[in-house]
Amino acid sequence: MSDCIFCKIAAGEIPARKCYEDDLVVAFHDIHPLRPTHVLVIPRKHIASLAHVDAGDESVLGRMLSVAQKLAAENGSGDGFRCIINTGRVGGQEVPHLHLHILGGPEPVGPMVAKI
Ligand code: AMP
Ligand code: ZN
Repeated sequence: MSDCIFCKIAAGEIPARKCYEDDLVVAFHDIHPLRPTHVLVIPRKHIASLAHVDAGDESVLGRMLSVAQKLAAENGSGDGFRCIINTGRVGGQEVPHLHLHILGGPEPVGPMVAKI
């Protein structure tokens, strides 16, 4: 999608601190890190959210998860990490291109969600 910021990062059209890329996914450091390790993994192709995937996307979804342990370990979170995919309005998604947050660091990430 021409006006999608994460499509532009995947295509190299705008800068990002990339830490991994292959034929299906690209990973880069979040611009506003919430933990010492905060890496985003995105599909190269534009998928708006987890609510927009179909069976043909299984290989890219699998790749997004299967690279997580390597990216966590290489970026300061070898002793565990948390993966989050915010989806849609209720899920608090801000950027409408599917992305996996990998959060970690030397200390525990903390409670899974804040109580409301
Ligand atoms: P979400 O709320 O799940 O949609 O998360 C979007 C994430 O993208 C946020 O953590 C932002 O800090 C991050 N983000 C937005 N723009 C950029 C960018 N240009 N480079 C890196 N991370 C970004
Ligand atoms: Zn996109």
